[in-house]
Amino acid sequence: MASGTLHIDLSALTANYTALAARSATETAAVVKADGYGLGSALVAKTLAQAGARTFFVATAEEGVTIRQALGPDPVINVFSGHMDGDTALIRDHALTPMLNSPEQISRHQTALPGAPYGLQLDTGMSRLGLQPGHWPAARAHAQSATLIMSHLACADDPPHAQNAQQLANFRAMTEGLTTPRSLAATGGTLMGAEYHFDMTRPGIGLYGGFPFADATPVVRLSLPVIQIRDIAPGTAVGYSATYIADRPRKIATLSAGYADGLIRAMSSRATLWHGNTPCPLVGRVSMDLLTIDVTDCAEPPEALDILGPHQSVDQLAEAAGTIGYEILTSLGPRYTRTVSP
Ligand SMILES: *Cc1c(COP(=O)(O)O)cnc(C)c1O
Repeated sequence: MASGTLHIDLSALTANYTALAARSATETAAVVKADGYGLGSALVAKTLAQAGARTFFVATAEEGVTIRQALGPDPVINVFSGHMDGDTALIRDHALTPMLNSPEQISRHQTALPGAPYGLQLDTGMSRLGLQPGHWPAARAHAQSATLIMSHLACADDPPHAQNAQQLANFRAMTEGLTTPRSLAATGGTLMGAEYHFDMTRPGIGLYGGFPFADATPVVRLSLPVIQIRDIAPGTAVGYSATYIADRPRKIATLSAGYADGLIRAMSSRATLWHGNTPCPLVGRVSMDLLTIDVTDCAEPPEALDILGPHQSVDQLAEAAGTIGYEILTSLGPRYTRTVSP
């Protein structure tokens, strides 16, 4: 028996793409890095291509190969990590477009694949990837023949944050006078309004139903099977380190999933699972492959409980564990049976 069933609603994915595309008048690309935020990048990319996406972004060249094989020759596949040492054959053979990040990457690309398409990534204030302002006077010579000039906002989940306007001003200043297509907005920037949209938005998390796209349709449901249920007496301990002691007679269900399946240990004694409309608290520590859940309030013994679904979004579960929805989704392990609805 698998660790549970991860159900992916493809029509919700399509609805989220369409809703995010309606927020701007420009092209809406799709970010499908990290195996499509944990949901399966080939499946996700095919669905988003049918929804109208023509440009895809991945983190690494290897991820780009998976998307090229799923989608065929037509879509543009952009690689955030640029042209790294060792990437040349993958970029050439799979027609990937690296978003070049440094003077070294620019010269590597020009030398290895002269004439091959590339984009440029600018550091407008995040200090993570991209050409810094000091590189720009020399690198700007490569801007006009780039397919895209892009940068990334550090604080777009918090629209009033002063760094958003600062990065916007920096991006405008660095790209002034160029006619190359530009992109600044991920999900957060897409929701912040037209001045952030430029020629292309590139949402990720909002497609998969996550914050900051508050109007998103939920895409995933995760149902975990019960292995056994026991009655315990008051004073009985549950799980590693005996962190939970029953205060009264309780029914404890043991479920077949744990931190090896992305249900991180920080959920211990903090997450809630659901049996229909009945909330069932996770009690004690999360084990590698097991969870212990208080099902005392269930009308009948449950065969499975939902940890993601209509009663609990990815972001609500993330909050209980002190993390973000991105980490919950991309941690979902390979042991689940995956099902889809069209
Ligand atoms: C991950 C990423 C995105 C997508 O961000 P979301 O917040 O998931 O919408 C866009 N651009 C870059 C550079 C990224 O790294």
